Amino acid sequence: MLPETLEKLFVFLNLLPQDRVRINWNGGEPLLAGKDFFSRIIRLEKKYTGKVWLNMIQTNAMLVDNEWAGLFSANDFRVGVSIDGSKETHDKNRKNIAGQGTYEKAMCGVNILRTHNIYPSTICTITKKTVKYAKEIFRSLIENGFKNLAFNVFYNTASDYSEDIYSLTDKEWLNFLTEVFDEWLILNDPTVRVREIDGILAWVKSRSANNCTYRGTCYQWFAVDYTGDIYPCERYGKITRFGSINSYETFSGTVTSSVLTKWRKNIEVLPQKCQSCSLQSLCNNGCSQHREADTQGVPLYTYCESRLGLYYYIQQKLN
Ligand code: SF4
Ligand code: SF4
Repeated sequence: MLPETLEKLFVFLNLLPQDRVRINWNGGEPLLAGKDFFSRIIRLEKKYTGKVWLNMIQTNAMLVDNEWAGLFSANDFRVGVSIDGSKETHDKNRKNIAGQGTYEKAMCGVNILRTHNIYPSTICTITKKTVKYAKEIFRSLIENGFKNLAFNVFYNTASDYSEDIYSLTDKEWLNFLTEVFDEWLILNDPTVRVREIDGILAWVKSRSANNCTYRGTCYQWFAVDYTGDIYPCERYGKITRFGSINSYETFSGTVTSSVLTKWRKNIEVLPQKCQSCSLQSLCNNGCSQHREADTQGVPLYTYCESRLGLYYYIQQKLN
C-alpha cells in the first residue's frame, strides 16, 4: 500500500462513528510490508487522535526479530501467530520454499516476542493431514506456553480445485473439537481459552457469543486491500467488491452502498434447518463464507453438525 493510500485509509477510518477502531493487519504475511510501513501506521495513528486505535497483527512469526518485537511492544499491538500445534503437525503443512518445516523458526519468533512481554495468541489451522492429532496439537500448544487458542478449519473456496486433500468433513471437525474440549477439561486451567469453546460458553452464560462466526456479524468487518478497494472479510477473497476508500468519502457511503446491501441481504437468508434450530441465536448459520447450498438451494453452514454436536457434547459433559 502506497503511503498516500495508507494516509487516505486513516482519513477514512477517522470518520467512522465509533470511538474505538480495531484494525487487523493481515497478509499473506504482513511483516513482509516492512518496518517502515508499520512505523508510518504508528505516525498516522498519532496524527489522527480522534480515535482509540486498536492494532492486531496475525503473523507466521518467522521474520520477528528484536526490532519488530520492540515496535509492537512500544505501540501496544496485539499479536497473533500461526502455529499449527506441535513441530510434527505444523511442519506437515507449513514448509518453506525448500520444502523444510518452519516450526522452529516460527517458535524462535514467538520466544523473541515473549522476551518483550508480548504473549501472542495463536490460530491453529487444521487440515485433513492434522485432524487426527487433536490431543497432541492441544497439549503441544499448552506445553509451549500458549493461553489463547483458536482453531480454524481448513475450507477450500477455490472452485476449480477437484482433488482437495486438505478440507475437513463436518464429522472430522466435530471429532477434533470434542477431543480438544476433553483435553481442555482435563487441563482444568481457566486461564487457557479456546475460541470455539468460549463462543459456546459465553452464549450459555449471557446469550451472546463473542465471535463473528457465531453472532452473524459478518457485515461489521471490512477488508481494505493495498489499492484501497473495500471488500468483505478477507475470507471472501475478491469476489464481492464494495467500493474503494478513494470513491467513498465516509463510512456511511460504504454501508449504504447497493452492493453491500444486496450482499448482506443474501448472507442473512436463513435456510429452513436454521429457522427451526434451537441454537439459532448461538450460531446464525455459522461463517457466511463456509456454506453450501441445502436441498432448497439456500446456503447452509458446512459445519452445522459440528456446531450442534459440540454444543450438546459440552452440555452433557458440564451437566
Ligand atoms: S447449528 Fe446448524 S441449523 Fe442451527 S443455526 Fe447453526 S447452521 Fe443453522
Ligand atoms: S466471513 Fe466468516 S470469518 Fe469472515 S467476518 Fe464473516 S463470519 Fe466472520
